[in-house]
Amino acid sequence: ATMPPLLSAIANAGRHGVLVKSAVVMERLGQVDAIALDKTGTLTEGTPRVTDIRPLAGTDLSENALLALAAAVEKSSEHPLARAVVEAARTRGLNIPDTQDFSSTPGIGVTATVDGRTIAVGAPDRLLDGAGEAASACVISIVAGLEDEGRTAVLVQRDGAPVGVLGIADRLRPDAAATIASLTALTGSTPLLLTGDNARAAARLAEEVGITDVRAGLLPQDKVTAVQGLEAAGRKVLVIGDGVNDAPALAAAHTGIAMGRAGSDLALETADAVIVRDELGTVPTVVSLSRAARRLVV
Ligand code: ADP
Ligand code: MG
Repeated sequence: ATMPPLLSAIANAGRHGVLVKSAVVMERLGQVDAIALDKTGTLTEGTPRVTDIRPLAGTDLSENALLALAAAVEKSSEHPLARAVVEAARTRGLNIPDTQDFSSTPGIGVTATVDGRTIAVGAPDRLLDGAGEAASACVISIVAGLEDEGRTAVLVQRDGAPVGVLGIADRLRPDAAATIASLTALTGSTPLLLTGDNARAAARLAEEVGITDVRAGLLPQDKVTAVQGLEAAGRKVLVIGDGVNDAPALAAAHTGIAMGRAGSDLALETADAVIVRDELGTVPTVVSLSRAARRLVV
């Protein structure tokens, strides 16, 4: 017997390195007419590297001490930025301290106790929200300098006071620009970039790949709101993401695709399909496969 078109499309998607979880999903992929994608780990390779280590003047910390402190907290996180910090500390052969009471807030950062002191590592704007303005003037200028160079700045705080900033840089996926062009042609509209990262780094990257619509500084729930806004306007949105912070948007979307190689377990479970072979360029391929299969289903 010949295989039903949607099932053979699933098999075909599998050969391209995309795991489509059901025939219903295979069918829905071809209906999408809007794309929203995440930045870190989705549009970028998700293997960022630490490029700058800046302990603040007036703290007792050396570059290595600051990096080791940040790595202690980040070693319990699966965020791509966390992996970069831990990797940098290991490369330098640093001794990474033990921690207690780790906790993580998607889109903001992580905290834990090290030697009886609370260490927080994460998005500067979010962490500085509570801090006094005078204390943070110097931090703000370091952060702005890094972001102007397209880097992600990560703030390290000890007992609520800033002690240093790390600069982290990630590479664009080699097929990012071509994929954006294909998706624009397929859906007739330009994809939307949804990121928790800072507006400066996001705008710079968007320009490189040909995205004009960027929403930065988003919390996981803000990504959901953006998707729901499009859906309320009658669009069928395909969300592409990799992180825990993308899971709510992946769930809210008409269809969700997760990046499999470095994607978080939650994103993989929540998504309707998983890009196993780590090529963003397979997204337009599966949309086209779905459309071809749908033409055969009567
Ligand atoms: P994106 O949407 O681009 O994937 P996220 O929402 O995952 O970005 O993260 C947004 C911001 O939150 C990051 O740019 C970073 O400043 C901060 N952040 C989140 N998790 C961490 C972490 N584990 N370590 C450091 N910073 C973090
Ligand atoms: Mg991400």
